[in-house]
Order: sequence, then structure tokens, then C-alpha cells
Amino acid sequence: MIQITMPLNFLGTVYREIRQALVDMGEMFDLLEQPAEVTDKPGAPALKIDHAAVSLRDVHFAYDPARPILKGVSLDVEAGQTIAIVGPSGSGKSTIGRLLFRFYDVTGGALTIDGKDLRDVTQASLHDQIGVVPQDTVLFNDTVYYNIAYGRPQASRSDVEAAAKAAKIHDFVMSLPEGYETKVGERGLKLSGGEKQRVGIARTLLKDPPILLLDEATSALDSQTEADIQESLQGLGQGRTVLTIAHRLSTIVDADEIIVLEGGVIVERGRHDALLSQDGRYAAMWHRQSSEEGAALAG
Ligand code: ADP
Ligand code: MG
Repeated sequence: MIQITMPLNFLGTVYREIRQALVDMGEMFDLLEQPAEVTDKPGAPALKIDHAAVSLRDVHFAYDPARPILKGVSLDVEAGQTIAIVGPSGSGKSTIGRLLFRFYDVTGGALTIDGKDLRDVTQASLHDQIGVVPQDTVLFNDTVYYNIAYGRPQASRSDVEAAAKAAKIHDFVMSLPEGYETKVGERGLKLSGGEKQRVGIARTLLKDPPILLLDEATSALDSQTEADIQESLQGLGQGRTVLTIAHRLSTIVDADEIIVLEGGVIVERGRHDALLSQDGRYAAMWHRQSSEEGAALAG
């Protein structure tokens, strides 16, 4: 009995871990087999984007029926707006991103884009419309050129370079011995966290999707790099509908709406200034982070 269940449990764990990694890889996902979790309805049409307005209507979700994760979340991201989701770890922020990608179906309520329920369109067409800049951009063992052009494989050389310039990685690439032909990834040149993220930004600029999902880096970028990347991300967000999952609150002070999620429910919402004067959860998070950053600077 043990001999059989242990490997199965182990496989289950490995599967879940791989799945989680896939989720973090975002669009890389298309390369691989779709897990059987959700399938297209027979004859489902492609998603057609008019404005790229995203809506969650009383969304409920549980990975495991015994443990609800989202308990009635409603929010609207109007065309061209930026909405930020903040909250403690485990509150369900990344889950909202996974549902937008339709890695899973909602268990109650609905998620729509331009009024179309995501369950009624093909996943491939949905993924075409959403750009993801993940916390940790995964690089292929191939050239820098390939890694950027992956965002739109039929792009021309000058499009690829323009995207690299906009993501502020072009000069760095040109300084490499083989330029765009330099091999990167595990078996090539190792890029720093900031450089990888710029490749991810360039890739997404090239893809040019109307909707952007940013699951912000928690880690490891020094504050100058972080500030530079932030500027590039803001450029990337121009004219797009942006859902950003933020850890550093300093990066979202300009968001059109900030959603504070706790235990799968929205406990506060509003713009930065209004939330600060409300002096509740958001204000507490803000003051805590400001003092930590102050301490880090002083230390
Ligand atoms: P956040 O991004 O806010 O930190 P998540 O949305 O990733 O939180 O996770 C919300 C909750 O769902 C957490 O308790 C987490 O453990 C759980 N969870 C996340 N992914 C899975 C999964 N694939 N299977 C089961 N539970 C999960
Ligand atoms: Mg998360």
C-alpha cells in the first residue's frame, strides 16, 4: 500500500510544483501541453477584443472544494486602466491572475473580457490577448534574439531591436561579444535578475497585447534596478488594460484603483491617497513598508 501511494503522492507533488512553475512562466505555457483542468467548449469562438475591459463578478474559487480561496470578488478594470491588487501572502492575489489566464475555471460568479465569459472562448485566443511579465522570466537556451522574438516569432529584426531599446536592454545586448546572437540561459550566458526581466518586457512589448498581467517581483533587484524596471513597466502599460499584483506599494501609487485582498475578500478599495486617509489596512501596510525601506536605506 505504502509502496504504491508514496510514489503517487510524490508524483502529485511534482505535478503541482511543475504546474505552479508553469503558472509563473505565464505565456511560456503555450509551448507545453495544456493540463486537463479546463478545456475549450466544442465550437467555442476566439475572443474578440473591443476595449479590453476586464470584469470579475462575484468570483468564487477553490482549488480544493473544502477550502475556498476567493469568496466573492468583484472588480472592473476599464480599458486602459491600471488596477493593483495588494494584500498579505496567501490572500489569493496570484489566483486572480491564474483565473484571468483561465488555468482554472471560477467555481462561482464570472470573469469576463469585454462582456465575454472566459469559459465561452478558446484559451489560445485568450492567451494571445494577455501579456505576462512574470516575477522571474524564463529564458530558453538560445540566443538573446530568439528569447525576445519569442513574443512574436514573425517579427522583423528592426521590431526586435525596437522592443529591446524600449525595454532598455539593447545597449547591454550590443555590449555582448556576439550581440543578439549571444546564447543565454542555463547553458549560455547567465543574465542578472534585472536583465532577465528586461528581456521579458521586450518580449511582451513585441507581443503587444491589449491586456497585461504583472505579478511583481518580490525579490532580489537592487533599488536602482527596481526603479529602472518600474519605469519600463510603466511604459509597457501605456494604452493597455493592466492588472498588477504588487508587493512594493511604492510602485502602485498611481494606480486607478487599489484593491486590498485579505482571505479571499476585498477589505478595502480606492486610490492611494483615499486609502491612506482612511487609515485602515492599506495605510498600515504603507507605513510598515515605508519604515522598512527607510531602515534599509539608513542601514
Ligand atoms: P497570493 O498570491 O496572494 O500570495 P495565491 O493566490 O497564490 O496567494 O494563493 C492563495 C491560496 O491558495 C494560498 O493559501 C495557497 O496556498 C493556495 N494555493 C495556491 N495555489 C494552489 C494550488 N495549485 N493548489 C492548492 N492550493 C493552492
Ligand atoms: Mg502571489
